Amino acid sequence: MRLVVDLNRCQGYAQCAFLAPDVFAMHGDEGLLYDPQAEDAQRERLAQAAAACPVQAILVDDLDLNLDRNREQDRDLTAAAEARDA
Ligand code: SF4
Repeated sequence: MRLVVDLNRCQGYAQCAFLAPDVFAMHGDEGLLYDPQAEDAQRERLAQAAAACPVQAILVDDLDLNLDRNREQDRDLTAAAEARDA
């Protein structure tokens, strides 16, 4: 999974390093280091880190697609539960 952090936006808040420490690390006071080719196993943590970044500096390939897919699955499950309860 490829990711990019817009370092012009990044303010060094470190939420990403807290939520996905295998991908992001703070270096010094405001420097952010990250793995631009994160393992697929980091997908969930990356999604949380990207959502938590206060300035939306984290862009992840393929992540939106999966979030949309998850939303569709949630919708399907909700519809199935409503049909069952009706
Ligand atoms: S959470 Fe966002 S602003 Fe904070 S260090 Fe990570 S990328 Fe930068």
